[in-house]
Amino acid sequence: MEIIRTPRMMKETSRRLLMKGKTIGFVPTMGGLHEGHLYLSRCARNENDVVVASIFVNPTQFGPTEDFEQYPRDFEGDRQKLETAGVDILFVPDVPAMYPKGFLTSVEVKDLSEKLCGAFRPGHFSGVTTIVCKFFNIVLPTRAYFGQKDFQQARIIQQMISDLNMNVESITCTTVRESDGLAMSSRNRYLMPAERKAATVLYKTLQEAARMVQTDIEPPVIRERMQKMLMAEPLVTEVQYAGIYDPETLNERIAKGNRNLLAVAVKIGNTRLIDNVVVGL
Ligand code: AMP
Repeated sequence: MEIIRTPRMMKETSRRLLMKGKTIGFVPTMGGLHEGHLYLSRCARNENDVVVASIFVNPTQFGPTEDFEQYPRDFEGDRQKLETAGVDILFVPDVPAMYPKGFLTSVEVKDLSEKLCGAFRPGHFSGVTTIVCKFFNIVLPTRAYFGQKDFQQARIIQQMISDLNMNVESITCTTVRESDGLAMSSRNRYLMPAERKAATVLYKTLQEAARMVQTDIEPPVIRERMQKMLMAEPLVTEVQYAGIYDPETLNERIAKGNRNLLAVAVKIGNTRLIDNVVVGL
C-alpha cells in the first residue's frame, strides 16, 4: 500500500490513474478504524480498479466542546487494517495541508444540514461537506463510499454532488454491527463497560420501532414510545432526537411513507451515539 501525504502528490497520482482509464474507489475516514470502515474498503475493492482510503481527523467538523483532541489516533494499527482490506493508496494529509493559512471557503448544504444531528452540532455538516468536497477535488474518485450509520451525512453529500454537478457516484453501505446489535463506531471505545452494555438500547429501540411501523401505530406514537424506551435506560443522560423521518427531506413524518427513516441520537455518560434503520411499510 502506497502512503501519500500531500494533496499535490495525491492529485497527480489520481490524474495519472484516470488517464490510464482506471476507476478510483474512495473511502474517507477519520481513523480509529473498525470493521465498518473495512467493509466500505472491501465494497470499494470489489467495484474499482484502484482503492484510495484517507485518514484525516477534520478539525472543522468538531464543535469547541467536542472530542477533537481525544479522537482515537492509531496510524500504524489503521495502516495495517487498510492494507489487509486491499486498499492501494492511503492518503494522510496533515491539517495545514488541508487548511493552509488564509483558507476562507466553506461548502454548505442548507436545510438538510440543520436537521437531526445538525440541530445539536452547529457547523458540523458544513465542516463535513467542505472537507469531502476538497477530498473529491484531490482524489478525483469515480465512486465514493459512505456508511449508512451516518445516514444524514450520506444524504447531505448526495445532495452536494447533485447540486454542484460533481463527477462522482456516492455509494451508501449498510451499517456493520457488533454481535449484540450496537453499530460499530470509533467512539464506542470511550464507553465504560456498564455504558457499553447500556448502549444496546439504541438498536433495540430501532428494532422495536421498525416492528411498530409494520402495525397501524402512527408516527407520533412511535416517536413517543422510542423516547420512552431510551429514557428507561438509566445510563442514558440525554435523548437528543428519536423518531421517524422522511429519508429524502429528513422531516419528521406525520404519516408513514413507503420508506421511513428511524433514527436516534443519545448521550450515554459523555459519549454521543447515533444509529438508524430504514424500513418500508
Ligand atoms: P468516520 O471515520 O467515523 O468519519 O467514518 C468514516 C466512514 O465510515 C463514514 O462514511 C461512516 O459512515 C462509515 N462508518 C462508520 N461506522 C460504520 C459502521 N458501523 N458501518 C458502516 N460504515 C460505517
